[in-house]
Amino acid sequence: MDIRSLIKEEILAQRAYPVDAASCRIKLDANENPLAIPEPLREKFAALLASIPLNRYPEAGSVALAARFAAKFGVGADQLLVGNGSDELIQILCTALARPGAEVMIPLPTFAMYRISALNAGFTVAAVPLDGKFDLDLPAMRERMGLQPPALTFLAYPNNPTANCFSRERIEAILDEASGIVVVDEAYFHFAQQTFLPLLKRHDNLVVLRTLSKVGLAAMRIGLLIGPAALIHELNKVRLPYNLNSLSQAAAGFYLDEEQAFLNQAAEIRRWRGELFSAMETLPGVHPRPTDANFIFFSCDFDADRVYTSLKERGILIKNLSAPGAMQGFMRVTVGTREENREFLEVFRDILAK
Ligand code: PMP
Repeated sequence: MDIRSLIKEEILAQRAYPVDAASCRIKLDANENPLAIPEPLREKFAALLASIPLNRYPEAGSVALAARFAAKFGVGADQLLVGNGSDELIQILCTALARPGAEVMIPLPTFAMYRISALNAGFTVAAVPLDGKFDLDLPAMRERMGLQPPALTFLAYPNNPTANCFSRERIEAILDEASGIVVVDEAYFHFAQQTFLPLLKRHDNLVVLRTLSKVGLAAMRIGLLIGPAALIHELNKVRLPYNLNSLSQAAAGFYLDEEQAFLNQAAEIRRWRGELFSAMETLPGVHPRPTDANFIFFSCDFDADRVYTSLKERGILIKNLSAPGAMQGFMRVTVGTREENREFLEVFRDILAK
């Protein structure tokens, strides 16, 4: 049997999301928090996990957790949906809103899962290149919206991989003018400290995404979607009943109990980001772009593939984004610990000198 003949074209045309093997000494490719849970909290966390009845299904819909996060954000419990990472929430949005011929609008470049989930759900994707400053190209986006109003628009704030927050006025213009849902994905909120949450009151087409992945719990897969209750009501029909396992629900509760420890780590990472950025500015032929996230987007005048491979050979993994066209020579490095950043800089300097 030709299995391929059974698969829909949108899937056949794709490659599975490439994730670099994690077997490297210094992992600076996935925008993770480089720090483990602080020592005094680790035992408490272990005890909590050990107390979970693994023979029972998790609480369906993470209702208690949703209520706690909703209270923290000052929204109704019916305005919040907990997901298996924000990846799942992106997929749920796409599944719920896809209709024959409907379109998803995204800027380019941006986080890859918007396009992948949109295509898998059957959407057509309208990708609008960012302007020369990696900000939203509002006239071009308006033109696209004029041709066909997108059912769903994804805007990462700050954007991955370009690391900047798009200008608020442009996002607000899209919120005003879009007839579909506009998702402001605040995955890197703890490093930008800017949010669209207060605008939920004014815009009934706004959805905000958050995640605990970048502040230290990537392994637990916890994402949050905040939006209009009427939308959440529909999304709940798409969500699998036990989308968040019991360990993850407990981990998210633990995060809320101990949030300050995680926020302290984020503050530390913001300091290390400043140090890494300043050091990268002094590297000849290396051009870091301003960053609001826990990573640095930079171009280099050298062969990016050679730089990437040489770093990898020496145990340091970053993200190579270089491709013919606007992304030529661009790469992304996550802010690591001070020690990891120092070693990255040392090896990078060495490679550039060769
Ligand atoms: N949104 C953006 C902008 C991201 O960069 C990422 C992680 N790469 C995600 C969402 C996915 O996060 P999660 O781990 O919550 O699925």
